[in-house]
Amino acid sequence: MRILVQKFGGSSVADLECMKKVRGKVLAAREEGFDKIVVVLSARAGQTNSLLERAYQWSDEPDLAELDVLLTTGEQESVALFAMLLQDAGVKARSILGFQIPIVTDDAFGSARIDAIDASRLHELFESYDVLVMAGFQGRTPDMRLTTLGRGGSDTSAVAIAAALGEGTRCDIYTDVDGVYTTDPRMCKAAHKMDRISYDEMLEMASMGAKVLQIRSVEIAEKYNVPVRVRSTFSNDPGTLLTKEDEMMESVLVSGIAFDKDQARITLCDVQDRPGTAASIFNPLGEAGVVVDMIIQTASRNGVTDMGFTVSRKDVKRSIAVLEKSGYDVSRIESASNVAKVSVVGVGMRNHSGVSGRCFDALYKAGINLIMISTSEVKISCLIDEADLELAVNVLHKEFEL
Ligand code: ADP
Ligand code: ASP
Ligand code: MG
Repeated sequence: MRILVQKFGGSSVADLECMKKVRGKVLAAREEGFDKIVVVLSARAGQTNSLLERAYQWSDEPDLAELDVLLTTGEQESVALFAMLLQDAGVKARSILGFQIPIVTDDAFGSARIDAIDASRLHELFESYDVLVMAGFQGRTPDMRLTTLGRGGSDTSAVAIAAALGEGTRCDIYTDVDGVYTTDPRMCKAAHKMDRISYDEMLEMASMGAKVLQIRSVEIAEKYNVPVRVRSTFSNDPGTLLTKEDEMMESVLVSGIAFDKDQARITLCDVQDRPGTAASIFNPLGEAGVVVDMIIQTASRNGVTDMGFTVSRKDVKRSIAVLEKSGYDVSRIESASNVAKVSVVGVGMRNHSGVSGRCFDALYKAGINLIMISTSEVKISCLIDEADLELAVNVLHKEFEL
């Protein structure tokens, strides 16, 4: 039996016209010879955001578990409407929600991780249905509370269900661009689509802010060897295939430029320069669930230094509250949200030197100031003024001849 998983994002299911295009893709896959299809859907474009906004009108600090009950309705709406469309075309189809499968997660409401998926219910349902329309982004805890998987989580639902359906099940992620590009095509006109990208590169691009796939979905794809293809609902382009790294890929120095606008900078001025300082700053933040990204410490002067780091913009208030509560010995705490991170990504960098020099030089020649820098063996990230972001992406795209 040939099974295919097709995932459609928010812009693909935005309205009736779009959903009819999605139906066309499902019918085409049936014609191509797939016996059974799992269609994973996101909430209609903008729906998750408007539900979130509404929650914050009702409550200053909505209960995270209730927030998840609310957010899962977005995907529930999509699957019900789409199942109706398929039925009208004579397809044996029904909707299925995360808890009905079940997709069992931990209880980290808002960013839950999948612990287990039992695909036997799907196999059972395939005896009566040809297409199962599954709600993305959602699961349930072992004690039956609804959870969501974090923004962009429907990608992860789709790849995880493909893995659970068994070795070799293909997963096509349909979105509003033709595939994975060398950088966000909305930010740089010269960006071009890649036919293939390695799991590692995609993971790095996603981690550095490329929203085209959720990070977790790439991790699962790599771990379970799921053949994932990113493609467009609105064209017939074959898209981009995620694959294992091969020799050809290693010869490519830089594969893409990613960026992340969700960065805010916090600086602790005049902290004591002695062993244990960093631990006493970052441990309480970690305990409070704040993810710290880049860190910089200035040279010591008269026994004090400045410690700067970045967090997600939504975590600024909370981070400062945690730091103030820990009674830290600093002259002041500053914060700024007008920053962004731009990253040069490529597995080929492992064996080459000089990439960081070229990156800094290109940014310097464009008059862009670097606030922080961090590197790994496959990426170089620079924190810059958000106003310089578009220029930086374009300059780096050109510098590395992408
Ligand atoms: P969906 O709603 O289908 O999940 P997303 O908005 O989550 O779609 O992801 C698709 C978007 O990702 C594109 O519209 C594009 O602007 C953005 N994007 C960012 N970086 C890249 C990249 N390197 N390649 C392709 N798209 C990218
Ligand atoms: N609807 C959810 C979101 O907007 C999940 C998804 O679309 O992948 O984040
Ligand atoms: Mg998405």
